[in-house]
Amino acid sequence: MSDRFGANRNGGQRRGGTNRGKRRGGSGGARTVAIRNTAPVAREPVLLPPVLTVAELADQLEATPIEVIRELMKAGIMANINQQIDYATANRVAVELGWETIEQVPEVVQKATADFESRRTEAASDPNAVTRPPVVTIMGHVDHGKTKLLDAIRASNVAEGEAGGITQHIGAYQVEIQGKKITFLDTPGHEAFTAMRARGAQATDIAILVVAADDGVMPTTREAIAHIQSANVPMIVAINKIDLAAANPDRVMQQLSELNVMPEEWGGDVPVVQVSARERLGLDDLLEMILLVAEVNELKANPYKPASGVVIEARIDRNRGPVATVLVQSGTLNVRDIVVAGESWGRVKAMFDDRGKRLRRAEPSTPVEILGLLEPPQAGDVFQSFETEKEAKDLVEQRVAQRRAEAVVGDRAVKLTELYSQIQSGQTAELRIILKADVMGSLQAIQTSLLKLNDEGASGVMVSIPYAGTGAISESDVALAVATQSIIVGFNVRPDVAGKRAADRDDVDIRFYNIIYNLLDEVKAAMRGLLAPEFKDVTDGYAEVRETFKLPSGDMVAGMYVLDGKLARNSRARVLRSGTVLFEGGVKSLRRFKDDVREVQAGYECGLGLDGFNDLQIGDQIESYHREEIARA
Ligand code: GDP
Repeated sequence: MSDRFGANRNGGQRRGGTNRGKRRGGSGGARTVAIRNTAPVAREPVLLPPVLTVAELADQLEATPIEVIRELMKAGIMANINQQIDYATANRVAVELGWETIEQVPEVVQKATADFESRRTEAASDPNAVTRPPVVTIMGHVDHGKTKLLDAIRASNVAEGEAGGITQHIGAYQVEIQGKKITFLDTPGHEAFTAMRARGAQATDIAILVVAADDGVMPTTREAIAHIQSANVPMIVAINKIDLAAANPDRVMQQLSELNVMPEEWGGDVPVVQVSARERLGLDDLLEMILLVAEVNELKANPYKPASGVVIEARIDRNRGPVATVLVQSGTLNVRDIVVAGESWGRVKAMFDDRGKRLRRAEPSTPVEILGLLEPPQAGDVFQSFETEKEAKDLVEQRVAQRRAEAVVGDRAVKLTELYSQIQSGQTAELRIILKADVMGSLQAIQTSLLKLNDEGASGVMVSIPYAGTGAISESDVALAVATQSIIVGFNVRPDVAGKRAADRDDVDIRFYNIIYNLLDEVKAAMRGLLAPEFKDVTDGYAEVRETFKLPSGDMVAGMYVLDGKLARNSRARVLRSGTVLFEGGVKSLRRFKDDVREVQAGYECGLGLDGFNDLQIGDQIESYHREEIARA
């Protein structure tokens, strides 16, 4: 959340366009300061967070809320005193009231952008650097067609391409047009983008902002614009769904221009392309525009050096071990290279592209799946190749030691129970929540209700949601929670094994709910310091269903393999399918061979029957857990 607004309000277009949006920067940056009747007083610029309320802004600007509201009205924004406004808007008011502002951007995010920029500058002056394909991320509001667009671009390209056209989902893919390549990161939305930046990495060269022509600019569209601008990444707007009768591209452009995203055809510097992902219209125009923007930005890298880049995603494959998709950003990665990624290292045993084809080498901007790391790294980890195993091992050891040291003294994740005392001691005025839910419908309902708590404004605490998504709580959700100092709220979802481990390790507060009302109630209570005594579910272990049997009685027993921790007869069990909770209840039977047993440890097989659930399927996971009352902080 805190990386929402950055220096360049124009989407960081580096196309020699106007510098209209540049509102802050180094001391040399041109700034607009309203000249008032009195002689200008040299005062310090005010530091403003990415989002703040009208009242907070008034306070910062030594003005009354009424003055701020009046300025907002002049700009056509109707806001009440508790309403949250973004940095761009706040800055506008500040300038009118004679202040300069600086946006508060978390250090790690600043560093991500700075590293990215310095790599660009370095490449620009490197005599060995050659042109590389652009790396593109698609962002925009839910249901505006991001996934469809990614699929359509890929499908059209594969059809033209090689026989068979079998594609793999490795987190990124490349297409070729007019003999030039474009790399797409295929997790649409802010997820990959924000999570990566929260981890200090930036991979995107060009962002495509998808806006549905019938729906127009929506809250997530604004958020995406903020993320893109904050990262100083050039933007192309794709107005999608132009096949619909209700499509109104002009209205979209109007809305965008009001947000300072000025379409080129209206004299601005943001290219806008009209497409239909469904009817596959305008896709070539979009791809050509990407190539054009890439060309103007002179994207380069030196392929003649050891590889470095960023991890796009990673997992453990049952048959192949740790598998990571990495994006090579500079240098060339070869099979047999020794690489370090985050806190993992290994020798690249094999590399595959997004069509599953074996590669021997991968040049800048190529996404490849690599085998050979000893552990899966995390998305957003930086990777580098090394000459010797020793260098690699030393670096990993150093990183692990550093993390441990930081964990002792450094920031740690917040706890819901501690929120109120922190508020009272003036440490925080914001409750950040990473929200995960089983389905999009609940996710949106919860998100809206949580943000509505802000309008009530009673407790003086603001709720913000750095990230909301569907599916199991993953390791990267936990990493994001640590980076953004958030708690995690799971609605009908549980963490996967890696997520659970990371949460335990990093001591992240995860709250689970299956009733929206309870969720909101507890958040409200925490904001007012009224949390009831708390129970905590303590996980004993995880097991996986390998086989299922029906007993003559009709009951089902499953052949299980305990993956982690233990399965206990007296504990409760939760059935997880793809990270979603299907059932919670007691254990009816737990057996090893013919014997009833009290518990079964990781690495062993057993038979399990549940009380009242007879629908286990192969691949389901069982989380064994018990409840403990925990002492209040
Ligand atoms: P995402 O949430 O942004 O990834 O959106 P999806 O790609 O899942 O698309 C949301 C819905 O819009 C789906 O039902 C798509 O079939 C539909 N959709 C996507 N692109 C188009 C389009 O160009 N035209 C029309 N009519 N529908 C589209």
